[in-house]
Amino acid sequence: MEEVDCVVVGAGVVGLAIARTLALSGRDVMILEAEPAIGTGTSSRNSEVIHAGIYYPADSLMARLCVAGKHALYRYCGERGLPHRQCGKLIVATSAEELAVLPSIAARAAANSVDDLRQISAAEALELEPALSATGALLSPSTGIIDSHALMTSLLGDAENAGALLALRSPVLGGRVTEAGIEIEVGGNEPMALRCRLLVNAAGHGAPLLARSIAGMPQERVPRAYFAKGSYFSMTGCTPFSRLIYPVPVKGGLGIHLTLDLAGHARFGPDVEWVDDLNYEVDPTRAKSFYRGIRRYYPGLADGSLIPAYSGIRPKIVPPEIASQDFVIQGPKAHGVPGLVNLFGIESPGLTSCLAIADHVGALVDAG
Ligand SMILES: Cc1cc2nc3c(=O)[nH]c(=O)nc-3n(C[C@H](O)[C@H](O)[C@H](O)COP(=O)(O)OP(=O)(O)OC[C@H]3O[C@@H](n4cnc5c(N)ncnc54)[C@H](O)[C@@H]3O)c2cc1C
Repeated sequence: MEEVDCVVVGAGVVGLAIARTLALSGRDVMILEAEPAIGTGTSSRNSEVIHAGIYYPADSLMARLCVAGKHALYRYCGERGLPHRQCGKLIVATSAEELAVLPSIAARAAANSVDDLRQISAAEALELEPALSATGALLSPSTGIIDSHALMTSLLGDAENAGALLALRSPVLGGRVTEAGIEIEVGGNEPMALRCRLLVNAAGHGAPLLARSIAGMPQERVPRAYFAKGSYFSMTGCTPFSRLIYPVPVKGGLGIHLTLDLAGHARFGPDVEWVDDLNYEVDPTRAKSFYRGIRRYYPGLADGSLIPAYSGIRPKIVPPEIASQDFVIQGPKAHGVPGLVNLFGIESPGLTSCLAIADHVGALVDAG
């Protein structure tokens, strides 16, 4: 049986960031990815927004890791020259009821140490974004956008420069906890058995299944996986907006918002649709509810301007009736298995938080 110090399962943005941190701390790291390329899962099916950290419950992992991750990510992008833009965002109220909700969002942001968020009047919002219809808004200057693929390539480059190895087409099929470490079975073209001292399960949607397939991992600590799909539609023609535009949040998501890519193209989404499998097709008939939702804050949206684009699927660990979930990052103290770290429910803001999640995992590993 081959021996390796650390195995990171999953080469999404989170697995790559963790592999980088572990490799930079001097550990021997192997990254095992089931697919033929890095970042083909949720990490390439998202809004590519650097979130400010506004909405999450105070002291939640999401709040702490998003805010720390945002600062770390802007620093990292600056140092590496990675494509990104701190374009800012507006959270737009379109009725008196929604206007009344804005102070509670602002209070939550303040509790999370997002100290630059401020409420602006309808007139100020229209001055910033003349195509808007609004009764008031929150302006978040620290929100931005990033090229997630450039980020992942850079994280992998750092990890490899520090000695990490990436094996693609290498699905981890299962494993068992032994006295000498965790033994795993790797499938694919070159099946092998590996023993490692540290196994980091950063398998995204596959994380609960993988944890369950490790004999010795307490099954009651493994959450059930649920999938909440989010579809996007792109907008034809030029966008009149220069900032990201979000409605007041809805249950299960942030509402159908407008994000921009670094080329300045606008896309709308994601919506929320609970599904049973990982089918990424976008149903064109969903456009109807998009037009309705978007026109509340952008009444000038022309008929026929929305084109089905792509979708992502949120790796939920709570059912639809539970409004919010936190990241679950389990080290040995949480489940009792030495040398195993599981990451469950790493939905948004996982991209923003990736560097902070990696530091958090590094600290769990050091704590033993
Ligand atoms: C619709 C949507 C929009 C989002 N928008 C944003 C946003 O704007 N900003 C933000 O900060 N976050 C956003 N997120 C969240 C962010 O995209 C995710 O948190 C992040 O990409 C998760 O990365 P990951 O590495 O954990 O998972 P993934 O990218 O899914 O990577 C997991 C990897 O593990 C591999 N894998 C699975 N099982 C195995 C196995 N058994 N063996 C080997 N490999 C395996 C998979 O092939 C995959 O490559 C969004 C998420 C969604 C769904």
